[in-house]
Amino acid sequence: MPEKPTVAVIGLGNMGFPMLSRLADAGFPVRGFDVAPGAVERVAAIGATGCATAAEAVTGSEVVLLMLPNSAIVTAVVDELLGAGVDSGSALAPGTLLLDMSSSEPLATQALAERLAGHGIPLVDAPVSGGVKGAERGTLAIMAGGEPAEVDRAEVVLSVLGKVTRTGAVGSGHALKALNNLLSATHLWATSEVMIAGQRFGLDPEIMLAVFNAASGRSGSTDNKWPNFILPGGYDSGFGLRLMLKDMRIAQGLTESTGAYHRLADEAVAHWAEAADALEPTADHTEVARWIADAAAAAQD
Ligand code: NAD
Repeated sequence: MPEKPTVAVIGLGNMGFPMLSRLADAGFPVRGFDVAPGAVERVAAIGATGCATAAEAVTGSEVVLLMLPNSAIVTAVVDELLGAGVDSGSALAPGTLLLDMSSSEPLATQALAERLAGHGIPLVDAPVSGGVKGAERGTLAIMAGGEPAEVDRAEVVLSVLGKVTRTGAVGSGHALKALNNLLSATHLWATSEVMIAGQRFGLDPEIMLAVFNAASGRSGSTDNKWPNFILPGGYDSGFGLRLMLKDMRIAQGLTESTGAYHRLADEAVAHWAEAADALEPTADHTEVARWIADAAAAAQD
């Protein structure tokens, strides 16, 4: 692996674009592709290479970084790449390191890794937590699953994007990420119920958060989501509600399949699904707090 390998980034949305930008700023040759109109032009505007197809982006790249919505799309893109080359039959050269940094399904990831191994292409799952700000600042929490030697090779790229924790075999990063988001969504719902109840009682929300953050009620919902995205009324974390629900369902399935207790997981998924049905498909996940407040108000009318 060269000191600064060429990295193809496929999926240039809220997360993928700032990740590509960080790699470009760090001196990596980067090539970007996304199906969304205007995304490729944004890549060219920062001096990186915008590509017209995924196959064009991966050709000549030592590392391929996927930042896509879900496993179905990850699998479709990889299948397209495997069938896209003119001479070899595959646009992915053997030895290319594939990093799936999307929040994908662990079982689908394991199946994909097995298929890719037959083509000589190692897969490392390296999903992230830390949101758009973490992507911009290079402070993402990265959960890396895969063969240790391949995670070693991936470090040169991953370390520009955040802090890497090795989680075990391939698929383990995706499992841990889904479980993290089930936890995150559950405490965001619980925090929102409590914050709304307190405000209706007459408590000052700023004082409530200050106390929770100095006390045992503290979480990412009390020290980040409520003060930064909900109280100011922006609802602009950059993480979609439907993406959160996707992750929760992955974790719910994993919980069920292991035979672990999942009563609260089922409740949380049902509540978030109800909010997702009621809100716009593009709603930010923090809008769940507004939906809970509105539901309480409507119930009283
Ligand atoms: P996003 O919807 O903003 O971006 C996804 C991008 O993928 C879009 O630009 C879309 O056009 C592109 N895309 C879809 N199909 C494609 C295809 N076939 N080929 C090329 N591009 C394609 O989503 P995001 O918020 O950037 O999230 C990406 C992944 O990261 C998801 O799996 C999400 O769950 C996860 N994630 C998001 C956050 C966050 O805060 N936004 C945080 C951690 C993890």
